[in-house]
Amino acid sequence: MSIKANIQAIEEIKARHAEISGRASEDVLLLAVTKLHGADEINEAIECGITDIGENKVQEIIDKYEKLKPVRIHLIGHLQTNKVKYIIDKVHMIHSVDSLRLAQEINKRAEQHDLDMNILIQVNVAHDENKFGIDKDELEQLLGDISSTCPRLKVKGLMSIVPYAEDLEEVRPYFQMAKKLFDQIKEKEIKGVDFQFLSMGMSNDFTVAIEEGSNIIRVGTAIFGERDYR
Ligand SMILES: *Cc1c(COP(=O)(O)O)cnc(C)c1O
Repeated sequence: MSIKANIQAIEEIKARHAEISGRASEDVLLLAVTKLHGADEINEAIECGITDIGENKVQEIIDKYEKLKPVRIHLIGHLQTNKVKYIIDKVHMIHSVDSLRLAQEINKRAEQHDLDMNILIQVNVAHDENKFGIDKDELEQLLGDISSTCPRLKVKGLMSIVPYAEDLEEVRPYFQMAKKLFDQIKEKEIKGVDFQFLSMGMSNDFTVAIEEGSNIIRVGTAIFGERDYR
C-alpha cells in the first residue's frame, strides 16, 4: 500500500473510533512518526495532509530539518539534557519530559532563544521498567516544580507509552489510567499548566487509545511500513 492509501485508511479508522468516544475525527491529531524514514517519504506524507511529525532522535531532526516541507516537528523520544540546545528552535512540542532537570534545561534554552516551548510530561502508567517516564505519584510534584521554576514552558498534557500487546484489552486499563490522571490534573488549575493533549496510541493500539480519550496518536509503521533498523 502507498503512503497515501495508508493515511486514508488510518483517517477512516480514526474517525470511527473518535465517534465511539463521542468526538469528531478532527479532535484527534494523527502524528506521523517518521523515525528512520527519509525526507522524500516524509514530504510525500506531508503532501497527503500530514501536518505534524514525530521523531525520537535529535540527530534525525537535525539531518532532515532543512529538507522537509513546512511541518510541525514533535520530539517523542528520550531527550538528553546536553542535546536540548540543538532542537530548541526546531520543534513544536517535546512529548518526553520526565525530570525537572530536563525541564529546566529546556526552559533555559527557550529563554536564550526568546521562545516558549510546548511540553508534555511522559508518565509510565504501566510501571514498565524498560520505559522512560515518571511514576504517576511523582507527577504533581514535578508539575509544581516546573510551574514555579520554568516560565518558558507551556505544559500541555501527558504522553504515555504502554507495553505492546496482541490483545488490546490488556492495554486498555493503561490508557484509562492515563486519561484519569489527565482529567485529575486538568481540574487542579496549576499555574503554567494547561492540559489539552493526551498523547497515546501507536500503530497497533491507537484504536483503543482513541476510545479511551487520546487526542494525539503517534503512528509510524501503519503509515510508512516496517522500519529498516540496519
Ligand atoms: C516509534 C514510536 C512510535 C510509533 O510506533 P509504530 O508502532 O511504528 O506506530 C510512537 N511513539 C514513540 C515514542 C515511538 O518511538
